[in-house]
Amino acid sequence: MKILLLGASGSIGQQTLDVMKKNPSDFILTGFSVGYRTRCIGSILRKFPTVTHVYLRDEHKVKYFQKKHPSVTFYSEKFFHLEDLINAVDCDMVVNALVGFSGLLPSIRALDLDKKLALANKESLVAGGEIINKILDSGKGKLYPIDSEHSALWKCLKVDDKNVSKMVLTASGGSFRKLNRDELKNVTVKDALNHPTWSMGKKITIDSATMINKCFEIIEAGYLYRYPSSKIDVKLHDESYLHSYLIYKNGLCRGEINKPDMRNPIKFALYEGKIPFETKSFSSLEDLKGLHFHDFDLARYPLVGLAKLVLDKKGTYGVALNRANEVAVQAFLNEEISFLDIEYIVFKIMKEHKSIKDPIVPDILRVDHEVEIKARKIVEKIKKGERE
Ligand code: NDP
Ligand code: MG
Repeated sequence: MKILLLGASGSIGQQTLDVMKKNPSDFILTGFSVGYRTRCIGSILRKFPTVTHVYLRDEHKVKYFQKKHPSVTFYSEKFFHLEDLINAVDCDMVVNALVGFSGLLPSIRALDLDKKLALANKESLVAGGEIINKILDSGKGKLYPIDSEHSALWKCLKVDDKNVSKMVLTASGGSFRKLNRDELKNVTVKDALNHPTWSMGKKITIDSATMINKCFEIIEAGYLYRYPSSKIDVKLHDESYLHSYLIYKNGLCRGEINKPDMRNPIKFALYEGKIPFETKSFSSLEDLKGLHFHDFDLARYPLVGLAKLVLDKKGTYGVALNRANEVAVQAFLNEEISFLDIEYIVFKIMKEHKSIKDPIVPDILRVDHEVEIKARKIVEKIKKGERE
């Protein structure tokens, strides 16, 4: 299988390269993209001499790399859209390991070009789930999730997808799971980046601390498996060993138990779900000795509640949710706002959002841009101490 990897310099990107390197007879890397972290380019080209095309963001570095690697074509953001790389590169599968809204257009292009899409970029489904499903419904492309919860659910559904009463996503609770809401007021960026069970990119680590990551994952599950929000629940789980589970109408459950290592779900997606896997049937969580579970408390993690609005109302609510969060997380990482301001910004944007029904791509791009401006204005007000 010929693979184009988007986001090769990131956490999922690097782990995808590990999986490919371990299975050289099954995967050929033909192209990849990085953002501003260009230091890995040389070593990726040494390890994968089959690469013909590379995309990076900084125009100034293109000349340097082009001279050093004359047989490879380099592109930069200034003159080239990332999604055009999918047209340029000879590939069967696109692995989308980009973070944030930047992943949406590449996901759409990959499917439109009838490629297999291994998707880590959950923001694609949050902002464009309806459009993505329409392309799939037209018979174009194939979509394989990389997110660990959705990979586990995929496996369980492969074993038995009849009479499911609930899909349950497990959640670690993020860096601040031991703190109450009062104690969240003064937490720092450094504290937030210290995730208890997973080592990931900065944005998703903050998203896990606010739990908007779980909100995104409910939306992701809703679009991937076409389940309504009423059939998707969340359970807190300390060890991140049970990756998610199904509850059937007869009360039996089925889940995947595995150590937290993203290389497992990445490998499963790269092989299109066609390799052996194990799921476990159990009658109650108490049967899973040594693993600890707690009921999910919406009052502690209120952002999770927004998944219902996005899945039920659709339109451009997902676009607004995603961008409000991206602006707020970046402002928190820049130490412009406090941790709880992230929630404040997201709720304010969502409350005032005027959704567009059945949006097409230009609508999504416009709303994304408008929300970005609006959210930045809220950040500026907060900085001046004018939070309403
Ligand atoms: P990282 O921040 O580690 O990597 C993101 C990648 O995207 C980097 O290569 C980055 O480039 C690139 N990138 C970011 N913005 C742009 C842009 N505008 N144009 C081009 N490239 C860009 O993120 P993760 O690997 O942690 O996460 C990737 C996705 O996978 C996210 O959607 C996340 O939610 C999801 N995910 C991640 C998991 C994990 O364990 N990390 C688990 C489950 C899901 P550079 O850094 O070079 O600038
Ligand atoms: Mg996940």
